[in-house]
Amino acid sequence: MIYGTRQTKRPLRWAMVGGGRGSQIGYIHRCAALRDRYFELVAGAFDIDAERGRAFGIELGLDPSRCYADWRTLFAGEAKRPDGIEAVSIATPNNTHYEITKAALESGLHVVCEKPLCFTVAEAEDLERIAAERGRIVGVTYGYSGHQVIEHARELVAAGELGEIRLVNLQFAHGFHNEAVELQNPATRWRVDPKFAGPSYVLGDIGTHPLYISEVILPELRIKRLLCARQSFVKTRAPLEDNAMTLMEYDNGAFGTVWSSAINAGSMHGQKVRIVGAKASIEWWDEQPNQLRLEVQGEPVRILERGMGYLHAKALADDRIGAGHPEGLFEAWANLYDRFAIAMDARNENDEGRLANLRYPDLHAGVEGVRWVENCVRSADLGGVWVDYV
Ligand code: NAD
Repeated sequence: MIYGTRQTKRPLRWAMVGGGRGSQIGYIHRCAALRDRYFELVAGAFDIDAERGRAFGIELGLDPSRCYADWRTLFAGEAKRPDGIEAVSIATPNNTHYEITKAALESGLHVVCEKPLCFTVAEAEDLERIAAERGRIVGVTYGYSGHQVIEHARELVAAGELGEIRLVNLQFAHGFHNEAVELQNPATRWRVDPKFAGPSYVLGDIGTHPLYISEVILPELRIKRLLCARQSFVKTRAPLEDNAMTLMEYDNGAFGTVWSSAINAGSMHGQKVRIVGAKASIEWWDEQPNQLRLEVQGEPVRILERGMGYLHAKALADDRIGAGHPEGLFEAWANLYDRFAIAMDARNENDEGRLANLRYPDLHAGVEGVRWVENCVRSADLGGVWVDYV
């Protein structure tokens, strides 16, 4: 159970790049980081527009001298202070992630970066190398993976309750972009422009979320080859896709599918993770994040509820209010931000044992997300053919 007590001695001095007024994701970063006082927001470069970003930082209650015009002056200015920042979160459009994360690591900062981590596996591996050299932590905000019942699903699989894993059925298929909403909406506009979004739209923007959850639940499974077909139903989005279907073969013989879509008209999020084993299946939908379905062949379906004593102790460790009351995405993110801070603290203390026992979306998870997108795009651009997973 989480009571708001900290497992680290003091809050880390923390800044944000991006996540300014009007951004989609800035507020949840702040709520999650500040919830259990693992971080203290002391500085930022919140906006592409320097003045707007500065005004926003002041309204957040920051010292005006620590509301910077851009990330370069933020890192340089804070490095000169004895009480300078120790960690930074990057919540800017995709095209900036690599450059800003690299600069942050080279400034000796721990990082939380939005997904997708960067555009290419080569860039992602470069970040991995720099982080290792500098001994810094990078967390990636695959936020849904912080839901408590995901941890229980992982334990069910580890205990063999599902039997041998046969099918991995994933989707994140919403309907919000069934028309060219980018003509009015700037946050959608950059998502369908390769200059800002990178080599994919829905694969990187949303497909990687259930993919990462599947990696959490099924840590042993490795993709052997995949086939991806992608479409731009709103034609002006080409070459970026607004819908994609991916088929995956795993090295244990299991088979997987991922439906990534922004044109699933009428659907809210439509994010599902269904794992089918030889004896039983589990299913989780992000719009009902407190429930995990356990379906044992020949028995009535069981709906496992968050906060109940029958869940695994590792799942209950993340409980904040007890069963019955709903928890949601803000709690899931806070669970992850708590672990990001504990990881950063452990790394500062050279406590490798503590780090090894901590499960969170780390730099490796970020690299694997980029790898999956790269393989999907390669397959799709070859005409939708099977490609070996590299
Ligand atoms: P957005 O367009 O709504 O907001 C982007 C913010 O970044 C704005 O405040 C903008 O002014 C600022 N910005 C842009 N360039 C900047 C720069 N160089 N320096 C400082 N600030 C800059 O975008 P969004 O929807 O909030 O997405 C931001 C990132 O978060 C994207 O990478 C996206 O993929 C990711 N995201 C992740 C999730 C998730 O569930 N983890 C959800 C939504 C978005």
